[in-house]
Amino acid sequence: MNSRSDTVADRATSRFQHAYGQAPAGRWAAPGRVNLIGEHTDYNDGFVLPFALPLRTVVAATPQPTGSWTVCSELTGETVSFGTDEVTHPGRVTGWAAYVAGVVWALREAGHAVPGARLAVASDVPLGAGLSSSAALEAAVLAALVDLGGLDLPAERQPRLAQRAENRYVGAPTGIMDQSAVIRCRAGHALFLDCRTERVEHIPFDLDGADLAVLVIDSRAPHRHADGEYAARRASCEKAAGLLGVPALRDVPSAGLDETLARLPDDETRRRVRHVVTEDQRVLDTVALLRAGQVRRIGPLLTASHASMRDDFAITVAEVDLAVEAALTAGALGARMTGGGFGGCVLALVEADQSDRVGAAVTTAYADRAFAAPTVTTATPAPGATRLD
Ligand code: ADP
Ligand code: MG
Repeated sequence: MNSRSDTVADRATSRFQHAYGQAPAGRWAAPGRVNLIGEHTDYNDGFVLPFALPLRTVVAATPQPTGSWTVCSELTGETVSFGTDEVTHPGRVTGWAAYVAGVVWALREAGHAVPGARLAVASDVPLGAGLSSSAALEAAVLAALVDLGGLDLPAERQPRLAQRAENRYVGAPTGIMDQSAVIRCRAGHALFLDCRTERVEHIPFDLDGADLAVLVIDSRAPHRHADGEYAARRASCEKAAGLLGVPALRDVPSAGLDETLARLPDDETRRRVRHVVTEDQRVLDTVALLRAGQVRRIGPLLTASHASMRDDFAITVAEVDLAVEAALTAGALGARMTGGGFGGCVLALVEADQSDRVGAAVTTAYADRAFAAPTVTTATPAPGATRLD
């Protein structure tokens, strides 16, 4: 039905027309995101620095007078309907539509009169690749419902609500980063987020002006044991904070770290703490360089972040280590896995005219090891969630 050249917004409209036999009242978009640096720092009350991708999820929507909700997605081919009964308690709508029902539930819980709606979803954000298709879906649906209902919910309060939808309704224990990034990012900027205070600051991240590019390399590695390992890392961070007598590892100063680590009982715990404390510092150092317009100089911080995730936090896998190594060997200024780990994507900072060469080198290295071919795209910092028309 759709030609390849259709934009994601066109596809949302045609999906809507096809499902409901009418034109939508409007279209709302929210991007995927990558985290430039700051991994596993969020639940330690620390710092992250994501930016939004040009890949987007678009929701076409119109009010539905019956006070119920109907949603279809080109990615699943399914249409799901639910009424107020299904959004009085979490968990009554399951599967992908739970992300939509969760937003309705969270809005109602917060006291908003949510309008019934017909919705159609199209997306360029790959699912489950660590680029936050889930937050993109929540944010686009939330933006649509807020506008259709004329709800009083400014952008700075939306991330918390979308996170609640995902944590409580869908049942996925995510931090505040994804929703903050996809809702609050600005074009040409990264979003410096303090996960303790939720304070955000837009940091200039001008790749074009510096003749640089960021490659996003999807390792295509299956997420092996990711949930259990995530829970284990989180538990050891919380335990270490308790042993050190601080509310969270964010409160451990990076100065004098060796003496602090000596107070911990075993090598594994010391490594976990060292990753988190040094990673927070690398975020602060990256922000300082970007504020000073020194984009090129963040490369070594990215690479150090990867080494810390690989050696101290033990969350990388062979495919992502290979992508980082091949990119650096081919001349990348820095490279690191991005996201929670055990698969997912790698970012490489490269001279703009070296993008193709570095991408090809990673693809060749994968072929040599008989790994599934990676997908390589370039990313420029894009805007957060917005109404299209
Ligand atoms: P990520 O956010 O890294 O892409 P998650 O596992 O958190 O991975 O979220 C992916 C899930 O979000 C999908 O399995 C699906 O249930 C839902 N989802 C995201 N985008 C869409 C979409 N466009 N259409 C239908 N479901 C979607
Ligand atoms: Mg997600």
